[in-house]
Amino acid sequence: MMSSQKSFSIEVFPPKAPDAVAELRRIRAQLELLGPKYFSITYGAGGSTQQGTYDISLEILNEGFEPAPHITCIGATYGKVREQIAEYKRMGIHHIVALRGDLPSSYGEIGEFHYANELVEFIRKETGDWFRIDVAAYPDMHPQAPSLSEDIANFVRKVKAGADVAITQYFYNPDAYFRFVSDIRKAGVDIPVIAGVMPITNYTQLARFSDMCGAEIPLWIRRRLESYGSDLASLRAFGHDVVLDLCRKLLEGGADGLHFYSLNRAEATARLWRELGLKNS
Ligand code: FAD
Repeated sequence: MMSSQKSFSIEVFPPKAPDAVAELRRIRAQLELLGPKYFSITYGAGGSTQQGTYDISLEILNEGFEPAPHITCIGATYGKVREQIAEYKRMGIHHIVALRGDLPSSYGEIGEFHYANELVEFIRKETGDWFRIDVAAYPDMHPQAPSLSEDIANFVRKVKAGADVAITQYFYNPDAYFRFVSDIRKAGVDIPVIAGVMPITNYTQLARFSDMCGAEIPLWIRRRLESYGSDLASLRAFGHDVVLDLCRKLLEGGADGLHFYSLNRAEATARLWRELGLKNS
């Protein structure tokens, strides 16, 4: 049984269709049995609205769990972020994830915040230590960064602006995580770096996400996933083994915790969680 100060948590996204909101309640009930430290709730990703992020955060709070709503720079103004954080304060929420967000093609302007470090700095200035602020990290490097060293320097800037914890983009090579952590420690950053974990259940979707976000799927994994074709049971069994092994290596190597990208499904995350024996202290 893994029990320590490591943190184990889950991401969900606010669905658009009303029946999917009800379905997410059912899925959350299963995920809550695992005892996650918190649920993070995406914003803007896949077209989700701020209202959806508020609503799901409030539901999670009322279910007795800690919500960590995401806030992004996309289209945001100082006034709007001031309102958002005031609303989260009113709800009694103390944890947020601050991101730049991905620029949807329909937006011409990013807004008044250009990078996540500006958002972190603003939230700290406005609300002091009220919020725990998490930020994103990229063991495979952010796809738009000109170089790894500049990406790391930009990450350090976010931490200096006041971030408490980092959550990584998903990755399948544990060495990428350990190298990243070693690089930022050398740069003087000592905050926890929680590894983002994407269970593998659907090859087409995973390949599409990975192309978009710059996460590498090692060739040997790609080739095997491709070879399963429509044999979903074999694909999922293989995907489970790969991700289970990855999580074990991360935990044995000293990772600060795991954050599961559930994609609003319970089964794959719950199976990994149970087989790893994860427990929040
Ligand atoms: P930043 O830290 O601002 O970095 C973006 C790029 O700019 C990087 O290449 C960086 O090197 C560079 N950069 C950073 N600061 C500077 C600077 N001051 N000057 C010059 N260059 C700089 N997207 C959503 O839309 N909604 C979500 O809810 C969401 N949740 C996420 C959760 C996690 C854990 C992760 C890992 C990603 C999430 N994303 C989400 C995706 C994320 O918004 C994108 O990856 C986005 O492209 C970068 O966001 P960031 O906060 O890392 O940006």
